[in-house]
Amino acid sequence: MAEQQSWTADEVHRLQAAAEGVKVTGAVEFRGKRYRLGAYGAENVMPQLAFAQAADAGLGAGDSAGLAAMYEMIRGCFIQSPACGTCEACDEERFDDCPKFDAGDWPRFRRVATAVCAGGDEILKVVQDAMEQITARPTKPAPGSSPPPPPGSGNSKEPSSLPAAFRALPDGDLINLDRLARSSD
Ligand SMILES: [Zn+2]
Repeated sequence: MAEQQSWTADEVHRLQAAAEGVKVTGAVEFRGKRYRLGAYGAENVMPQLAFAQAADAGLGAGDSAGLAAMYEMIRGCFIQSPACGTCEACDEERFDDCPKFDAGDWPRFRRVATAVCAGGDEILKVVQDAMEQITARPTKPAPGSSPPPPPGSGNSKEPSSLPAAFRALPDGDLINLDRLARSSD
């Protein structure tokens, strides 16, 4: 192994994801079709904060604030290019019309999921797949060092599929995804 080899953030991301058993493909699969994920899901903090707040307030199965936050979170995972925030369209909050904005495969996914009447289980699978890939965060290795070691066995019972906002919550406040999935059928 070359001593001087340095790892790009992307390589480290893939290695870390592999160590955690997460397959980073840059896309999620739904009903046999692939949908590209963007690179902004983890940076898009507002939906995560909204979700954490909704969960903190005691997220019930039919909690609309929590579901709305989850909707924003999954949509953010698909964004290929964020809105600029300063053009005329952005001023009028017509963000879809911003020349910089590219929603990626989100509109296609949303239309297909709606048309096939996808249930909570299916949607949550997509959310989890997307979040798994997006939260496999790159770490900064020392120059010339080996790739990051796999995470300690201490957190092996902790599912790695949940976004950072979930992880930050105390155990008792974690949203019950299975219950949420069942309730949305
Ligand atoms: Zn704009």
